[in-house]
Amino acid sequence: MIAIYPGSFDPITLGHLDIIKRGSRLFEKVIVAVLRNPNKKPLFSVQQRLEQIRQATKNLPNVDIDSFDGLTVNYAQMQNAQVLLRGLRAVSDFEVELQMAHTNKTLSTQIETVFLATSNEYSFLSSSVVKEIAKFGGSVDHLVPPHIALDIYKCYNQKSPVLNSTTTKTMSFPKKVSPDLGV
Ligand code: ADP
Repeated sequence: MIAIYPGSFDPITLGHLDIIKRGSRLFEKVIVAVLRNPNKKPLFSVQQRLEQIRQATKNLPNVDIDSFDGLTVNYAQMQNAQVLLRGLRAVSDFEVELQMAHTNKTLSTQIETVFLATSNEYSFLSSSVVKEIAKFGGSVDHLVPPHIALDIYKCYNQKSPVLNSTTTKTMSFPKKVSPDLGV
């Protein structure tokens, strides 16, 4: 069975990679599909994201990387995939994801959405959190693979910041990261 893991991946995080690794143990093939969305202004181009993901998944032989636009179900049918793989972090994800799964079901009854619950340590992690931390000079070394952390620091014109020991040990970040995030 072939699964598509669609998303923006701007950039891919350790949370996404955890879903990909676990998905690759469940399905014959997982296609990580970057959505080309002209309405969003991403930090990284589609080409950059494909390269970042390619490098991060190079040790997973049954994981392919691709990009697509248009309806995800159409893309899945084109790839002969039966499953859309999605990750669930919190109730907020659940509401959006359930609506999307139901909508996709109305478009194709052949394709099932399969959800994997986030691993505990990544339940807070999103691409936006990573960008927000980097924008304000914080370290993202514990949130993304090293080559992606470097790309991010380059974007924000920043040298790799040194984590303080508490942050490293607990894999968490201070309660008040930025007012924008509300955390
Ligand atoms: P989208 O724009 O489609 O939401 P994302 O790149 O933000 O794309 O996320 C793609 C998928 O990965 C979504 O199903 C999202 O819920 C899931 N995901 C994102 N971060 C995590 C995480 N830390 N743990 C588990 N799943 C995650």
